Amino acid sequence: MTNPQLHQARTALVIGGGVAGPVAALALRKAGIEAQVYEAHHPGTGSKGGPLTLAANGLNALRVVGADAGVAAAGTPTPRMVIHSGTGKVLGEVGSDPALPAVTTVPRGRLAELLQARAEAEGITVVHGKRFEGAVDTGRSVIAQFDDHTTAEADVLIGCDGIRSAVRGLIDPAIGPRYTGLIGFGGYVGGPGTGGPAVPDTGGAFHMIFGRRAFFGYLSDGERTGWFANLPEKRLDRDALRATSFDEWTARLRAAFADDAGPALRILDQVTPENFIPASPLEDLPHVPVWSRGRIAIAGDAAHATSPSSGQGASLAAESAVELARCLRDLPIARAFTAYEHRRRGRVERVIAAAARTNQSKAAGPIAARFRDALMPFFMARFATPERTAWQHGYTIDW
Ligand SMILES: Cc1cc2nc3c(=O)[nH]c(=O)nc-3n(C[C@H](O)[C@H](O)[C@H](O)COP(=O)(O)OP(=O)(O)OC[C@H]3O[C@@H](n4cnc5c(N)ncnc54)[C@H](O)[C@@H]3O)c2cc1C
Repeated sequence: MTNPQLHQARTALVIGGGVAGPVAALALRKAGIEAQVYEAHHPGTGSKGGPLTLAANGLNALRVVGADAGVAAAGTPTPRMVIHSGTGKVLGEVGSDPALPAVTTVPRGRLAELLQARAEAEGITVVHGKRFEGAVDTGRSVIAQFDDHTTAEADVLIGCDGIRSAVRGLIDPAIGPRYTGLIGFGGYVGGPGTGGPAVPDTGGAFHMIFGRRAFFGYLSDGERTGWFANLPEKRLDRDALRATSFDEWTARLRAAFADDAGPALRILDQVTPENFIPASPLEDLPHVPVWSRGRIAIAGDAAHATSPSSGQGASLAAESAVELARCLRDLPIARAFTAYEHRRRGRVERVIAAAARTNQSKAAGPIAARFRDALMPFFMARFATPERTAWQHGYTIDW
C-alpha cells in the first residue's frame, strides 16, 4: 500500500556532482522542486579523465535543462567513428544521423565541471567536500548524514553518487560492480608547448582499433589528442594495479600495441605521469533489482552503470536524471519512483548488455579475433546504421 505520507516532493538532496547529480538538480528545479547537490570532492581535485563521448541522446537530455550548448561548445564534434583492425584494415564506419545533435567529445572530468557550473548559474547550491555517509527516513522527511558530522533534510534524497554508490547501499547493500575483464587507461596529450600534435586532426572522427593484444581509441583536433586503451586482464588484482608504476604501465601498453598499425606508440611517446590517467578496472552493473526505497532513489551509474564500451554511460545518466525529475513533478513520491524505474530499466539494461558483448570482442583471443575481423565489416554495414541505432541515439524525453 502506498504510504500516505509520501506526498508530492518539494525539496530534494542530490548526492554526487558528476553527471546525473547536476542534471537531476537542474531538472528538479525546472519541475518546481528545490534541490541541493552534495559532492565529496573539492572543485578541481577530481580526475580530469580521458575523452568521453556524449551521444545525441545525452545531448537531447541535457537540452531539457539548458546544458547542451555549453557542453557542445567545450567539446570536439565527433560525428564519425572509424573501426580498424590491428593490421590497419578499416572494419567499418559509423556516422551520426545529421538530424540529431552532433556527438561531442569532452574530457571526462570537464563534463562534471561544466554541469556543476550550469547548476550554480541557475542558483542551485553545489556543496563540495561533503561525503554522504548515511540517511534516516523519518517518515516525514529524509535526513542525510555527511562525513563532517553535518546533516541536511528534505522530502527526497537522490543518489547520483556513481558506480560505488553509498546511497545504493541503503537500498540494497548486496549489489556491487561486475568486472568486465578489461582495465582502462587514457588521457590527453599535446597542446601548446609540447612539440606538436601526436597525430594530425582526425576531422571529427574517433578512431577505434581492435589491436592484436588490446584495444586503442584516439581522436585529435589538430592540437590535443585524446586517447584511451583497454587491456584484457582476466583476474583483477586491485593491489597489483595500484602498485604498478607509470613506467611499468607505459612499457606494458607499448608492448601491447607494438605490432599494430596506427598511432598508438606515437601517442604513448607523449604520455607523461602528469597527463596519464592511471589504470582502472572497467566495470558495470548489469541489473540493480531495486532503485528506490521510501524517500530515497538512485540515478545514473548508481542504478545502471554501463561499461565505457557503450559510449553511453553519461548520456544514460543524464536521461535518467531528467526522467526522475519529470516523474517527481507529476506524481507523489512513491508513485514517481515506481514510474521512473518502469520507464528507464528496459532501456538502460539493453545498452549495458550490448556493451558487455563489445567487451568480449575487445578481449578476444587470436582465433576469435580473426573471426571478429572477418565478420565485423558485414555486421557494421548491416547493424551500425542510423536506422538500426535510432532506439539508442534518437531517444528524447518529452518533458
Ligand atoms: C574510462 C571511462 C571512460 C568512459 N567513457 C565514456 C564515454 O565515452 N561516454 C559516456 O557516455 N560515458 C563514459 N563513461 C561512463 C561515464 O563516465 C559515467 O557513466 C557517468 O560519469 C555516470 O555519471 P554519474 O553522475 O552517474 O556518476 P559519476 O560521474 O561517477 O559521478 C558520481 C559523483 O558522486 C561523487 N560521490 C561519490 N560518492 C559520494 C559520496 N558518498 N558523497 C558525495 N559524493 C559522492 C563522486 O565524487 C562523483 O563526482 C566512461 C567511464 C569510464 C570509467
